[in-house]
Amino acid sequence: MKLVLLGAPGAGKGTQAKKLIEKFTIPQISTGDLLRAAVAAESELGQEAKSFMDKGELVPDSVVLGMVEERLGQDDCAQGYILDGFPRNTAQAEALDAMLAELGMELDSALSVEVPLEDLMKRLTGRRTCRDCGQMYNIYFNAPAEEGKCDKCGGALFQRDDDREETIRKRLEVYNEQTAPLIDYYSGKGILKSVEGTGDIEGIFANVCATLGL
Ligand code: ADP
Ligand code: ADP
Ligand code: ZN
Repeated sequence: MKLVLLGAPGAGKGTQAKKLIEKFTIPQISTGDLLRAAVAAESELGQEAKSFMDKGELVPDSVVLGMVEERLGQDDCAQGYILDGFPRNTAQAEALDAMLAELGMELDSALSVEVPLEDLMKRLTGRRTCRDCGQMYNIYFNAPAEEGKCDKCGGALFQRDDDREETIRKRLEVYNEQTAPLIDYYSGKGILKSVEGTGDIEGIFANVCATLGL
């Protein structure tokens, strides 16, 4: 399975990707996670990226494309992968096509997770993430059993720097302007599928699997 996940910030791409990789043992390639790891490592790339992330803007394509190309070339991607949060604009989508052609790979599907705009703010301000295993929670919708602590591994939960109202507004604007056009891009290629992203996480996952024919 070679899959691109599309959807607004907070649509639940990461949540569904985590469930897919558990069930199908293929890697999730999240450019957001890769960038946050670079920021945490205080690498040169991370420092460049952080200024854009803090503003809710896209990190320059050159930075992201290099990261993705390196990741896709690793052995564990041969059997498939889930691209989560990438591509984010048409230039990235075209670069991805070129990269895949070079590697002799082809995408199976681009799956759009659809959530109404008015739900996204609360999802994002309420998001908490496990520092150790990356599991996502939400203080409003799916809180951990014990506050601030991961159900899966006991790790401490944190709130992302960019999950603040002002930055979220900017990210949603960037999504509408730059990322939403990818729905037409993949529709034009005949590989677009879509799924309702509201309701309970297990129910959405069942629809994701059915929609992808898994
Ligand atoms: P979310 O899951 O809320 O959509 P991500 O973790 O995917 O957020 O991304 C967080 C931030 O990282 C983005 O606002 C952007 O600054 C940067 N980023 C992530 N992926 C990309 C990408 N493919 N291209 C450019 N910037 C990216
Ligand atoms: P994305 O990767 O698309 O930005 P996430 O998977 O990180 O989105 O989810 C954003 C927030 O919404 C998280 O706090 C997550 O726990 C929560 N969430 C995910 N799916 C649902 C759902 N079906 N209903 C309510 N909240 C959800
Ligand atoms: Zn954890």
